[in-house]
Amino acid sequence: MSTKRDFYEILGVGKNVTAEELKKAYRKLAIQYHPDKNPGNKEAEEKFKEAAEAYEVLSDANKRAQYDRFGHARPGGGGGYQSHEMNMEDIFSQFGDIFGGGGFESFFGGGGGRTRQRKGSNLRIKLKLTLDEISNGVEKKIKVNRLVQAEGVSYKNCTTCQGQGQVRKVVNTMLGQMVSATTCPACNGVGQLIDKRPPGVDSSGLVSKEDTIAVKIPAGVADGMQLSMSGKGNDAPGGGIAGDLIILIEEIENADLKRDGNNVVYDLHVSFIDAALGTTVEVPTITGKVRVKIDAGTQSGKILRLRGKGIKDINGYGHGDQLIYINVWTPKKLTSEEKTKLESLRSSANFQPHPDAGEKGFFERMKEYFG
Ligand SMILES: [Zn+2]
Repeated sequence: MSTKRDFYEILGVGKNVTAEELKKAYRKLAIQYHPDKNPGNKEAEEKFKEAAEAYEVLSDANKRAQYDRFGHARPGGGGGYQSHEMNMEDIFSQFGDIFGGGGFESFFGGGGGRTRQRKGSNLRIKLKLTLDEISNGVEKKIKVNRLVQAEGVSYKNCTTCQGQGQVRKVVNTMLGQMVSATTCPACNGVGQLIDKRPPGVDSSGLVSKEDTIAVKIPAGVADGMQLSMSGKGNDAPGGGIAGDLIILIEEIENADLKRDGNNVVYDLHVSFIDAALGTTVEVPTITGKVRVKIDAGTQSGKILRLRGKGIKDINGYGHGDQLIYINVWTPKKLTSEEKTKLESLRSSANFQPHPDAGEKGFFERMKEYFG
């Protein structure tokens, strides 16, 4: 029989170690030597088992006191603490305590060993909103068909999983025994089976019922965003908490105003006479029409900014702006009289393009507004 190493030494802790420190020391070793992280490594497996055994003894006040007095049992018996060789299942069942309710498997991203609270399935709906509703926020009454618990249904505990919703299997691998938890195939993880089922009720004991739900949509939501209302989804069969209502936002395209983040963009076409002489025009915004002054000598491509006339930021960072893109519209057809008038201006010095240094081209403007 090989001589056993000291339990305190194995865990790298002192004799006065507290329960919390002990747990921490063990957790570190358990992660370091976990078989999943050291496939095929016999030495790691031994260290893993050794640490588990040491922790099992030292974390139990009675066993620890006995061990402190007598140390390891001597071969042939007498006095000392006789620890038992732990198998992998013992070790893994210990992990619930060490790694919190989630258990070791979920600690490593595997299936959860968690005690399950039954939860109904989520209900998904699409909600179309106008730009106006999005910018102001809106309260909507939505009709949904929820699955609710039917009258007269009774359930019985699933005998395959004893109501746990999961079945645990001990698998022998070359690394030793491993425990895996999988969804119970008999009840699909619900933990119960339907017993009495009145007509019109689905196989989980639920019926579809139309429900009207008031939904408050905050200002500033965007196309593709999902809002979730907990407890407004489908009922959990046989009791538990209802699932969530997931609302997918769809933005109805506005004919005039295009959205760009929290900004609203409007394409304005002006005649080149108006651009040259200046004018005022009526422009739609999300809060109604406003009059905008177009200066004499306005160039095509100029962008006017109406501060704060955009969409309210969903996180409360103020409002976006409305950007007005000015397009100078060139007439496509001219009468002979119009042609004559324009022809007389063709060689006029003022009609020759001579952009000054302050006038930015298209790319410069793009950089200014989106850079
Ligand atoms: Zn089951």
